[in-house]
Amino acid sequence: MIINLSDVLSDQHKTVEETVPLTMDEIRLKSGNYPVVEREPVHVRVEHVKGKELLIHADTSLSVNIPCDRCLDDVRYEFVPNFTKHVDVGLSDAELTEELDESNFIDGYHLDVDALLANELVSEWPVKVLCRDDCKGLCRVCGQNLNTGSCDCEDPGLDPRMSVVRDLFKNFKEV
Ligand SMILES: [Zn+2]
Ligand SMILES: [Zn+2]
Repeated sequence: MIINLSDVLSDQHKTVEETVPLTMDEIRLKSGNYPVVEREPVHVRVEHVKGKELLIHADTSLSVNIPCDRCLDDVRYEFVPNFTKHVDVGLSDAELTEELDESNFIDGYHLDVDALLANELVSEWPVKVLCRDDCKGLCRVCGQNLNTGSCDCEDPGLDPRMSVVRDLFKNFKEV
């Protein structure tokens, strides 16, 4: 969803307030794409400070499916972003890109609300998501989800010293 900023920029101290739908279906990060499974409209308030400086405030809530760090099952993770950004749209494109952390949620006098939110979620993104604290994860041999069943594999990670020796031995044979 795009909000036109030229109106708020026409008068100093002017404020525009809008509630707009979030239109993105997934969050795209370097580590993958994460589907948005639940969303609320985004409340946006833009305040004209002076010159071409704006204070952009946004709040909403949305849920995203993020795979469990151990078993890869989808975990519904709720974000409740509520933030304010100071942006000078009078800066050149290059300066603006630097100030906006290279995420172009402002293009000319247009504010891209999806891009603004995506940018914020990156900074709020959890380092690790677990489906539950004691998730047993996947068997490293056969891939069985150990929360839902067991398998007969030997855990190759039980004695890491042994596998180092094994690898060394393998390398020797290849030479
Ligand atoms: Zn898990
Ligand atoms: Zn197994």
